[in-house]
Amino acid sequence: MNEGSSQAFDLLLRDLRLPGQSGAHCLGLRDGRIAHLGADADLPAASVRNAGGALALPGLVEPHAHLDKTYSHDCHLVSGSSGRGALCDAIAAMREYKRQRSIEDVVSRAERALQRAVSAGVCYLRSHIDLGSAEELAVLDAMLGLAQRWSGRITAEFTVLGNLADADGRAIFAEALQMGAVAVGGTPALCAAPEAAVDAALDLATQYGRPLDLHIDETEDPASPCLRHLAQRCIELDWRGPVAASHCCSLGFLPDAQRAEVIDLVQRAGISVITLPACNLVLMGREAQPTPRGIPPVAELLDAGINVAVGGDNVQDPFQPWGDYDPLAQSALLAHVAQLDGADSATLLALASANPARALGIEAATLAVGSPAHFSLLDCADLRAALCERPLRRAVYFAGRPVLEQTLSTQWLPTAMEAS
Ligand SMILES: [Zn+2]
Repeated sequence: MNEGSSQAFDLLLRDLRLPGQSGAHCLGLRDGRIAHLGADADLPAASVRNAGGALALPGLVEPHAHLDKTYSHDCHLVSGSSGRGALCDAIAAMREYKRQRSIEDVVSRAERALQRAVSAGVCYLRSHIDLGSAEELAVLDAMLGLAQRWSGRITAEFTVLGNLADADGRAIFAEALQMGAVAVGGTPALCAAPEAAVDAALDLATQYGRPLDLHIDETEDPASPCLRHLAQRCIELDWRGPVAASHCCSLGFLPDAQRAEVIDLVQRAGISVITLPACNLVLMGREAQPTPRGIPPVAELLDAGINVAVGGDNVQDPFQPWGDYDPLAQSALLAHVAQLDGADSATLLALASANPARALGIEAATLAVGSPAHFSLLDCADLRAALCERPLRRAVYFAGRPVLEQTLSTQWLPTAMEAS
C-alpha cells in the first residue's frame, strides 16, 4: 500500500478514507498527479491539509451531455409544444428554441452546467454539440472557448452531433474536427438509411483518426438495426479505436435469442455501451402499458464483459425537464432501474468513473500512484453511503489543486418534548 518517494510533495492530504479500506490514509500530490498513497503519516510537503476523515473518490466522468441544450426547459414551456414529452416533441421544441437563442445565452447555460458538474466531482465531461448546419459551428466555437476558460477545473470536450447522411453534413464534420471537436457522433437511427449512416460515421472516424461516439437505437423498435450493424462493421474492419454506443434502448426490446446474439457481437467488437437512464425513463415507452423502462439490459451487458458506463444526457431541457450533473446519482439511479443488486459498490462507482473513461478513450482518474490527481472529498464513511446518500463534496481537486470547497452545517434541534 505504501508507495512514493522521499521527495517533498506539492501538497500532502492527511486523514482521509479510501473506498473499501479501513484506517486513515494520506495522499501526496506532485506535478498534478498522485505521487504517494499510504497510511496516514507526516511527510515532507510544501503544503499540508487535513481532510478530517472525509472519503476520497476518484474524479467522475460525465460521458454524455448536451451543453448546447441544457437548462433550456423554460424556453420549451413557452414554445407551445404538445407536452406529450416524446422524443419527436423534444426535437421539435429544440428546433424552435434554436431559432430564438443567442450564443451568449447558450454559453451562460453551459457554464452553469460546468459549475454543477465540478461541484459533483466531475473531472471530465463530454458533450455532444448539434452541428446540423454551418451556422452552428459558432456554437461549437463558443463552447471551445468556455472549455478553455474552465480547463483549470474540468476537462470539457465535444463530439460532433452532425448530419451523416449527406456531403454538406460531412463537410461540417471536417470543419468541426479541425476546430477542436474530438469525436465523430450522430444519430443513425433517425436517418432515412440507418446502416448507411453508421458506415458514414465509421468512414469519417477512419478519415480523421477520431473515436466514434454515437447515439444508437434510441427507440423501442426492436428492428432498429444500428447496434447490430455497427458491431458487425467494427468486427469486419478490425476496428481498434474507442467506440461508444449511447442509449441502445431497442436492445432491451429484442427477444432473448436475438438479444444474446447482438450482445455477443457488441462484446466481440469491443464496443462500450453508455446508458442514460434518467433521460430514457422519461422519453421511452410513452405509449405502452405497462410502461417499459427503456434502457438496455445492463446486467446482461456486464455479465458479457462489455464495458458499460452511465451518463446524464439531457438536463433540464425539452428532452428531459429534470436532472443534474452528478454521475454518482446516475449510477445510483441505474442500480435501481437495472436491478443491479448483484453489483458491489466499486462496480457502481466504476460505471461513473473508470468505465466512461475507457468508453471515450481518455485517461481515467484513479486513487493510485501515477494517476492524475482529480478527486473529491465527501462527508461520509464509505462508498455505499456515497452512492445512497450522495453527501456534499466537501472539496474537489483537479490536477492536484483544490478547485472547490463547500461547507454544510447540520444541527439537530430539540423537539418540544425534549426541550421541556
Ligand atoms: Zn444524447
